Amino acid sequence: MGWRDRGIELKTPEQIEGMRMAGLVVGRTLEMLREVARPGLSTAELDAAAEAQIRSSGATPSFLGYHGFTGSICVSVNDEVVHGMPGPRVLVEGDVVSIDCGAIVDGWHGDAAITLALGDVPDEVTALMRVTDEAMWRGIAAARLGGRVSDISHAVEQHVRAAGDYGILEDYTGHGIGSEMHQPPDVPNYGRPGRGPRLVKGLALAVEPMVTLGSADTDVLDDDWTVVTRDGSKAAHSEHTFTLTDEGAWVLTAIDGGREQLAALGVPYGGD
Ligand code: MG
Ligand code: MG
Repeated sequence: MGWRDRGIELKTPEQIEGMRMAGLVVGRTLEMLREVARPGLSTAELDAAAEAQIRSSGATPSFLGYHGFTGSICVSVNDEVVHGMPGPRVLVEGDVVSIDCGAIVDGWHGDAAITLALGDVPDEVTALMRVTDEAMWRGIAAARLGGRVSDISHAVEQHVRAAGDYGILEDYTGHGIGSEMHQPPDVPNYGRPGRGPRLVKGLALAVEPMVTLGSADTDVLDDDWTVVTRDGSKAAHSEHTFTLTDEGAWVLTAIDGGREQLAALGVPYGGD
């Protein structure tokens, strides 16, 4: 690794196994939240359900106390893109809800996010959520040992641009992850391929496109956390943590390790 790759943490296979444990807690917590999220529930109630499941799994919420964040998950509704602080807001029919979850097991982190809709939403919102999720998978699928970080960025952007007139946030990116939630390198959701640090064994990355139905310009609310679209357009956010092994890609926060989605994209599965 060269000078520009300083600060990148390479994990041993045993440490990656530890990250898998954290990733499974995150994946299962998000699956539970997808089931329980409904109109009439407050975002604080969702948060409490998440914290209870994370702790009963023997894990610790990554987000709680992170630079003063008071939730165990981020819940970002409609024009909120990311970093929504759980609170008294009550979810209603038609809301588009992004839930971001992080957990720590034995010092190793997992980080993933889903976006779901409560009840009926316009077709354009359904498409936004689908395109965002597909773009994340395309990004992961573009990663190869010996490739570069921006191969992921390029694949994400290509998919979103080809799908329609969407905004892609540039001020917020994916990231390295391991013994801390946020580590070098950044993983932007746009850019030319073949740039940035090399993709090597032991690297773990969170890939997380943040996509809007309008402009990519954002503001941060007075709570100093919640990122909203400036034009009020709805946004979606999908995230997974993954690594590369000699066999292929292993999505540490997907319950099946990404096996099904990777197969659909023709990518070998690298998990155990
Ligand atoms: Mg996250
Ligand atoms: Mg993240």
